[in-house]
Amino acid sequence: MKPVNSLLAATGTTIFTVMSALAEAHGAINLGQGFPDTEGPADLIEAAAAGLRDGRNQYPPLTGVAELRQAVAAANARFYGLEVDWASEVVVTSGATEAITASLAALIDPGDEVVLIEPLYDTYLPTVKLLGAVPRLVRLTPPHWRLPREELAAAFGPRTKALLLNTPMNPAGKVLTADELGFIADLLLRHDAYAVCDEVYEHLVFDGARHIPLMTLPGMRERCLRIGSAGKTFAFTGWKVGYVTAPRALAGLVAKAHQNLTFTTPPNLQRAVAIGLGKDDAYYAGLAADLAARRDLFAAGLKRLGFRVLPTLGSYFITAGYAPLGFTEDDAAFCRRMTEQARVTAIPLSAFYAGEAPGRYVRFAFCKRPEVLMAALERLEGWLAERRIDARPDGA
Ligand code: PMP
Ligand code: GLN
Repeated sequence: MKPVNSLLAATGTTIFTVMSALAEAHGAINLGQGFPDTEGPADLIEAAAAGLRDGRNQYPPLTGVAELRQAVAAANARFYGLEVDWASEVVVTSGATEAITASLAALIDPGDEVVLIEPLYDTYLPTVKLLGAVPRLVRLTPPHWRLPREELAAAFGPRTKALLLNTPMNPAGKVLTADELGFIADLLLRHDAYAVCDEVYEHLVFDGARHIPLMTLPGMRERCLRIGSAGKTFAFTGWKVGYVTAPRALAGLVAKAHQNLTFTTPPNLQRAVAIGLGKDDAYYAGLAADLAARRDLFAAGLKRLGFRVLPTLGSYFITAGYAPLGFTEDDAAFCRRMTEQARVTAIPLSAFYAGEAPGRYVRFAFCKRPEVLMAALERLEGWLAERRIDARPDGA
């Protein structure tokens, strides 16, 4: 038979699914795939349930129910001072995942170059390639995650169509500063390029750090497609409700991509998310404070155990180095071993790089109940202690 699509044939199952299955097989505490282990706001669940019972279960409008598009526009104004026309500049999608694909599809012709920053979320590269674009990768590495400005500038050229930018960054926990964003904005203007801005962790920032949408910088309003996700903002990762804010002409193209990908997104979930976006400041402050407390608890525990814990200012994730513990294997082998022996699962950082792993680091998700994080730390402590005993020359 004729060969099937070569890109997909060469694509493995996503690392998140692979590690979750391994965790399950070994009864491990799963700190790999990033999803909370508690439910989001009860009133949103009620609203979603009520939404199923009120006779509006047929196709909603292509670009999303009016309530949600209005709520997205209002949130843009409230949090970032962005003036957005809800009717023409917002498109609701089935998760940020679809939003990323639809936004790239809106911009790219085969042969265009797209600048991507490693570490990168696992759908970015395959999607860019499937659309026929040429990826130009720029690498940020632990422990400092510095933006390599010269390399970034060198990745832009006459064929650059877009930059795909994620801040706050998964898995680095880096929140791009105004200065870094200014540098990026300058490159986009100089090269007449667009930016697809994956901002799913926009409300999960800690220690007084501020998330700044690239779209708010001078000259960027017309060039950016800004993406959010109810999965992260309301701890409902299974709902898959995403939203794109973009200038009218681009939003129209995102809508056309959306009509060919999924066409619409479940109406009851959209209506519940609209209520969520209108929640008061206390909700948003509580969300971040609660996560920051979990980060602190888990980071302190990992440090005590001897991991090299890198600071994280946003997202669900901590990057931790295991070289100080004396392990020399690569990060994938370490994550397998930790799952099998300690029964705690993490994601190897190499999964976020197209090329070589940036050293011996793994990503832990800390969006779990404190008692679960404590239990994971206890398991790790027991495992590391046993290992030290085994390592004694007389085995005593
Ligand atoms: N972008 C990043 C950086 C993510 O971590 C995730 C994770 N879930 C997504 C996009 C996808 O979001 P959604 O579940 O809304 O599709
Ligand atoms: N975004 C989540 C993470 O980074 C996982 C999403 C997925 O499983 N595809 O862990």
